Amino acid sequence: MAEFTTPTLKPYPEIPPIEIGVMAHSKPFKANPEHQQKIGFPGELVDNWERVAVEKMGELVSKSRALRVFLDSCVKCGACTDKCHYFLGTADPNNMPVARQDLFRSVYRRYYTLAGKYLPWLVGARDMDQELLDQWYSYFHQCSQCRRCSVYCPYGIDTAEISMAAREIMDHIGVGQKYCNEIIGKAQTIGNNLGLPEKALLNTLEGLEEDIEDETGVAVRMPLDEKNADILLVTPSADFFAEPHVDGLIGYAKVFHQAGLSWTLSSHASEAANFGLFIGSHENMQNLALRVREAALELGVKRIVFGECGHAWRVAYSFLNTLAGPFDFLDQNYPVPQHICEVTYDLIQRNQLTLDKSANDDMVLTFHDSCNVSRGSRMGDMPGGQFIIPREIIKAVCNHFYDMPSDTIKEGTFCCGGGGGLLTDDLTELRVKGALPRMEALKQVVDQYGVTHMAAICAICKSQFSKVLPYYGFKMDQIVSLHQLVGNAIVLNREP
Ligand code: SF4
Ligand code: SF4
Repeated sequence: MAEFTTPTLKPYPEIPPIEIGVMAHSKPFKANPEHQQKIGFPGELVDNWERVAVEKMGELVSKSRALRVFLDSCVKCGACTDKCHYFLGTADPNNMPVARQDLFRSVYRRYYTLAGKYLPWLVGARDMDQELLDQWYSYFHQCSQCRRCSVYCPYGIDTAEISMAAREIMDHIGVGQKYCNEIIGKAQTIGNNLGLPEKALLNTLEGLEEDIEDETGVAVRMPLDEKNADILLVTPSADFFAEPHVDGLIGYAKVFHQAGLSWTLSSHASEAANFGLFIGSHENMQNLALRVREAALELGVKRIVFGECGHAWRVAYSFLNTLAGPFDFLDQNYPVPQHICEVTYDLIQRNQLTLDKSANDDMVLTFHDSCNVSRGSRMGDMPGGQFIIPREIIKAVCNHFYDMPSDTIKEGTFCCGGGGGLLTDDLTELRVKGALPRMEALKQVVDQYGVTHMAAICAICKSQFSKVLPYYGFKMDQIVSLHQLVGNAIVLNREP
């Protein structure tokens, strides 16, 4: 890993003077043949890879009208150039969204437009060659697919879609990323990203039940594979052991307990995350989504609820029915699927939970909107529910809450810096630098209101902030799970 200097926090965000190629060295480890082949890709660079890559690109643009429109419609207005956290944090102009797109667009123009075929120098068309592939591998793994740039583009061009297509093409020629592809393989064979087998999961949950009872004196259950429970909870596997995720899981269990809801986890679908999204692979995304359907059918549940995970909620909310539906065997009186925040918010609205806000009086909170929740999904049946519901829950369980500056939250939220399959130690420099805009916004409310903690509803955000907060002079435990706050405040007075 290259040595690097952590950027300095400034009182107001500044657009950095460009430094050409300064992040060209940043590349994640490559997947080995075993990781590749396990999920259906060639183990190593295929013969005639240039032709295979160009043909795959043709297949993708013919299948996706959106991708073709994104490639054809950019007018180089420049509105997106200063909107990417990776550009703001690294100063590398290839991290400007339009420049990142052009790494892909230049090949599309060369092979799939008339002008590019005959006058390539006139339209910025390039041959697919080794130099370009190196740039693709580097800079398409410097996009967290957060979609912030698309909010500010007058044409709504979504760089995330282009970055997913580039990764899909690279996988098809045998150049995959280790972190994502290894994890997808584990989730497809064992059921979760960590490779945690059923017995270990059961032991972990029993240990957590004992911890809760020791602390509260109340026997709160964490059921696994319990047939005919009403609710199947699908949650990121980080919730089973990592801090601060596990405190969120304890919060969900307390909510279910106190509301008298019957629920279970599943060892077959013990992972909400779906990294198939990050590599643009419909097949892998579908394989993972089908495990949720299989678990729901096997256990005979009536509802599916997703725990705190940003991209998992996007896949669940936007694609689950297409990938693994229809879910007509579930209770249609509830959204299919439902977010844990919707469940908790609904219970709060109906006065079904007794809450003691003072339990969180040692914290002054702010809230980090996760990209995939903010810009890729919704919650509840009101416009903007994905912004309103988490904030209303925090206000119901905490006395002190302040939002970060308005251009850094909700639709305009800045990525944590570790999303989109980049949450790996081989990309630490990128992750730290990409977190700069969020850290600057956090610093503002720390200085102005004395904010001590930031809540989030995404497993990746929580892991990323735990790692990068200390680089900026904060403490790693200043990031908390939203349901950790709920779990602190909930008064347990129901018998099991
Ligand atoms: S999707 Fe996000 S990470 Fe990717 S180019 Fe746009 S702003 Fe940057
Ligand atoms: S904002 Fe949209 S149209 Fe303008 S340069 Fe960026 S991608 Fe192209």
